[in-house]
Amino acid sequence: MAATLFNNIMVWEGDSDAPFAGEVLVEGNRIKAVARGANQIARERASRVIDGGGMTLMPGLVEGHCHLSFVGPARNQDLGEIPPEEHLLRTCRNATLILDHGFTSCYSAASAKLRLDVVVRQEIEDGYLAGPRYRAAGPEITVTGGLGDERRQHMHAESFGMIADGPDEIRKAVRLCIREGVDNIKINISGDEFVSHARAEVCSMSEIEVATAVEVAHEWGRRVASHSRAAESVKRALRHGVDCIYHCDFADEEALDMLEAARDRVIVGPAFGLVHNAVFESERAGVPKETVERIGLPRKFEATCRTYEQIRKRGIKVVVGGDYGFTLTPMGQNARDIGHFVKFFGYSPAAALRCATQVGGDLMGHKGELGLVKEGALADLLLVDGDPLADLSILVGPSRFAMIMKDGQMHRDPRVWAAGHHRIAAE
Ligand SMILES: [Zn+2]
Repeated sequence: MAATLFNNIMVWEGDSDAPFAGEVLVEGNRIKAVARGANQIARERASRVIDGGGMTLMPGLVEGHCHLSFVGPARNQDLGEIPPEEHLLRTCRNATLILDHGFTSCYSAASAKLRLDVVVRQEIEDGYLAGPRYRAAGPEITVTGGLGDERRQHMHAESFGMIADGPDEIRKAVRLCIREGVDNIKINISGDEFVSHARAEVCSMSEIEVATAVEVAHEWGRRVASHSRAAESVKRALRHGVDCIYHCDFADEEALDMLEAARDRVIVGPAFGLVHNAVFESERAGVPKETVERIGLPRKFEATCRTYEQIRKRGIKVVVGGDYGFTLTPMGQNARDIGHFVKFFGYSPAAALRCATQVGGDLMGHKGELGLVKEGALADLLLVDGDPLADLSILVGPSRFAMIMKDGQMHRDPRVWAAGHHRIAAE
């Protein structure tokens, strides 16, 4: 079996506060050995040796709230106006783009059309398309009038929603997504600020509808993620066993207490990039400042920051993932959210980076063996030119990744990267 030894590297394992000088041996698709210091791993064990030139070897990044099929819409209904053929090609391009940006795993928070995620995941798994490990979702299951229902009377429109009302329709929608091959189900329990009739603090999906969605998904062995901005929508998700609760912006004290009580089982994700950019970079999407104020986005931003300070202090597991893929949040800039965790939520750089690696590995269903540089872990690795813990911004944009390895395979080979640089030597 092919084995690669990395020496002359700094190693950041994914669960520590600082990197150390060391060596790492990869055999097949697993990490075989991790050692501190030099000349600790016999080079005879390797079929090739890569001198990392002092660069940092760390786990591949995990995008915990990914929408590969969100191909730059300004409005939700823009996604409904792309024919499936073009939509699939553009989704494929996003898959390769995000891997080029160091994300070796992505957990889908919804697909704009039912089969886009599923076929892209399959194409990646079959080795025809360069892309991350991918947990595919279906569209966002929502109720009439909820987030994702862009129709109006006499005017048909589609976006990223699959509309289902009442337990019978919800049950059928979940089964349909599963039949078509999804790994995760997404349900919209609350609205959002840009939905005229179901604002962020409106709980649009009823108790029985949430309970039914989770019951069916779990019976079929699928995880459930929810869009939950309203306090009650967080509680509703928790009461019925949702596995991953996104947003939680307006969580009140009771919701936070319930999250803390469930912290061994549940993972949350702020999907903060879109919230941040909507307030600070709205011109990008041609949205005037006055509109941003009028629909209450600064208030949502403040609420998110307050809530995630609390979530951090209470030790609740959080994944990085920022709703990238809209006009406001171009795909590829996803790693900006790691820095946001430090600047706006009070995380240390190492703690923020753990959310984007180790916690993400847990969400992907590989707890303890993905998002870590440990003996036995899956070999998803980055070789980074610089110390990401000293400057997280080097993880945004692909130029500082000398190597991107997924499942033991080099997507970017450091020897090719080195052609334009001088810091690495390979034998
Ligand atoms: Zn989203």
